[in-house]
Amino acid sequence: MGGRSLAAYEKVVGPVAISQLTQLARDLAGARIVHVNSTRQGGGVAEILDWLVPLMCDLGLDASWEVIHGNQPFFNVTKSFHNGLQGMAVPLPQSKIDIYESTVAENAERLCPILTEADFVIIHDPQPAFLLNLCPERKGHWIWRGHIDVSHPNRKVWNYLRKIINGYDVSIFSMPDFAQRLNHPQFIIAPSIDPLSEKNREMSQQEIDRVLARFGISKDLPILTQISRFDRFKDPLGVIQAFKMLNSSVDAQLVLAGGTATDDPEGEAILEEVQEAASDDDRIFVLMLPPDSHSTINALQRASTIIIQKSLQEGFGLTVTEAMWKSKPVIGGNVGGIRLQVHNHHTGYLVDTPEGAVLRIRELLRHPDKMALMGENAHEFVKQNFLLTRHLREYLTLMLGLRRGLEHHLVAV
Ligand code: UDP
Repeated sequence: MGGRSLAAYEKVVGPVAISQLTQLARDLAGARIVHVNSTRQGGGVAEILDWLVPLMCDLGLDASWEVIHGNQPFFNVTKSFHNGLQGMAVPLPQSKIDIYESTVAENAERLCPILTEADFVIIHDPQPAFLLNLCPERKGHWIWRGHIDVSHPNRKVWNYLRKIINGYDVSIFSMPDFAQRLNHPQFIIAPSIDPLSEKNREMSQQEIDRVLARFGISKDLPILTQISRFDRFKDPLGVIQAFKMLNSSVDAQLVLAGGTATDDPEGEAILEEVQEAASDDDRIFVLMLPPDSHSTINALQRASTIIIQKSLQEGFGLTVTEAMWKSKPVIGGNVGGIRLQVHNHHTGYLVDTPEGAVLRIRELLRHPDKMALMGENAHEFVKQNFLLTRHLREYLTLMLGLRRGLEHHLVAV
């Protein structure tokens, strides 16, 4: 996050929000907090940890971020956990469990000495979850933070992971629909974005135009954009299908921009399918971006007429928040965390099918005034609900409650 301090956010969120954080953090001064996930770049979790950890430090907490390492077979297994948690039928033979547990055990040799001494350990998603079983001497509070849509998990995968997650003191989900039968308190904390990051900062028109020119995208035609990892749950093929249905009646361009995350082994195969589906239409731009393309993504979002996020499952969808912050109407899949953000007819439209997307795109392109109003509503909604100060406040409050032994009195789901 480029060494930004909390004070830099005062002009966005106002002084009260900042002083509230300072007050809350006072009672946690010096607390050792370790976050663990499975990649430093790519995907929403890395995006959040990138600002969360430095800001916790700026508040006087001793926060750090560790990453578990693994080889291709390990990430194949954890991706199948991810797919299974989002409802896909995936097999779970003992051989997969062995790969998972033995890789986490290799990481535990390096990480357990750090995690055992921490006051708070926050484990993100299933990849590092088994670390808890390998750190029996742990002293602090262990929090499992699920970022994905687990509203209808594959039973086999969930039954295995639930046994592990039950060992944690509490868990956090992004919305009430994801809460599960667990034997500890569950909390709802929605994700958020950093409004001053390279991904979200203000940009000049020249900077935006330069990015469009780099990819040969015209600024004279409407631009419809979906930014996403190439993942089946993001439904890039459904977006292309919608665009092709639309294109007979509307002159527009489609940008599908994405990259890979180091913990996501399926990206390349899906990218190939997307390139194949787009190959007969020169108004579809499939952009494979390097992991640090934050300003390019910022420019593409700002240049867009409409942002699409037609996911079939979605834990939250930071790309939706990012677009809304840039005052763009969003046409989103009617699933998971997108429903928290896209309020039908106010900040965009929720759709269930490519046909639904076509209908809404046509409607918005015919009514620029409606698009502008939705964009304004969207920006305001993010300002009130999905900026990092709110997110940080909820983490601090939860940690204070745990430290004071209040876990059974805190308001949980
Ligand atoms: N992103 C990126 N490069 C890409 C694709 C996505 O930097 O090629 C970013 C995107 O801007 C967002 C995050 O990665 O900040 C994706 O988070 P989201 O919650 O939308 O989806 P996830 O990948 O975590 O499922």
